[in-house]
Amino acid sequence: MSREAMKVARLYDYLDVRIEDEPTPRPGPREALVRTRACGICSGDVVPWYIRKKAPLVFGHEPVGEIVELGRAVTHVAVGTRVFVHHHAPCLACRACRRGEFVQCPTWRASRIVPGGMAEYFLVPETNLFGDTLALPETVGDEEGALVEPIACVVKSLTRAGQVAGASVLIIGLGVMGQLHVLLAKHRGARLVIGADLIAGRCARARQLGADRVIDAAAGDLAAQLADATDGDGAEIVIVGPATIDALEIGLACAAKGGTVVQFMGTPPDARLQLSPYDLYFREVRLVPSYSCGPIETRAALQYLAARVVTARDVVTHRFPLAAAGEAYRVAAEDKSAIKTLVTFAPAS
Ligand SMILES: [Zn+2]
Ligand SMILES: [Zn+2]
Repeated sequence: MSREAMKVARLYDYLDVRIEDEPTPRPGPREALVRTRACGICSGDVVPWYIRKKAPLVFGHEPVGEIVELGRAVTHVAVGTRVFVHHHAPCLACRACRRGEFVQCPTWRASRIVPGGMAEYFLVPETNLFGDTLALPETVGDEEGALVEPIACVVKSLTRAGQVAGASVLIIGLGVMGQLHVLLAKHRGARLVIGADLIAGRCARARQLGADRVIDAAAGDLAAQLADATDGDGAEIVIVGPATIDALEIGLACAAKGGTVVQFMGTPPDARLQLSPYDLYFREVRLVPSYSCGPIETRAALQYLAARVVTARDVVTHRFPLAAAGEAYRVAAEDKSAIKTLVTFAPAS
């Protein structure tokens, strides 16, 4: 195919998004070129300190597209296949991979699609193409395919949380990741799912998606409100969405005896949390991090989508073309009515 320039959306700083032209990548013998059809904006991609650490960069790690060109040594997929491509893929051979700790694999950390999902085309390197690229069944639409990565992160989080079936689960923060936690915690048989957020509209959506109760975190002390809702027990599983020390402290205060608190988002590098080992020990409360996801979780996520446990309609609220990517990032960062914001691409003419 001819190497025309393509459009990309590059982030220079928080809410500084520029549409630029750059050469369309050329796949090597064991690589693929994908025409992007949709790409989600991740909650992490609108965090100023995180953007500044990486900018300038074409963001977008939740892409779906159609394979348009393959290296000559690739035979396991075909041109024309619609795929979800994981931005990071593990080597499957190192010590971390053998233990299932894929995000600690040096290859996972180093791998990335080029230039990123917020581009008309992206290159899928060998590691990602062979390690974590999934063909989408016809029943999984483009917008749903863009949810594979976020759902996979939630699959990992709920797996690390321990036994969800029969548990009381508190989900702090009801942005898209909180809403997905509500859906999957209910699906996995949680006894009581309670969502908490400062924004009424998000609480209302969590109720629609199956939360048994919601707590308006603006109405007063969250731990006290939770105690009222749980006969003083607290929650056996607490998912802490917001990436703040405050939220982690509240999460720990909300945990039941023998409970697990999942730190779902990365805090800034210099943040410090004060812990009471006495309290953790005698109440046997676990604090468990859950960072991103690997190929086991992406496959589980695709199955949930194929089974319609999660649909795009549940969480996708805003869509923008690439030319309006600046507005898309602004909405994802600041519009309280936004749950999931996607950038969508016109089909090839
Ligand atoms: Zn993400
Ligand atoms: Zn590895």
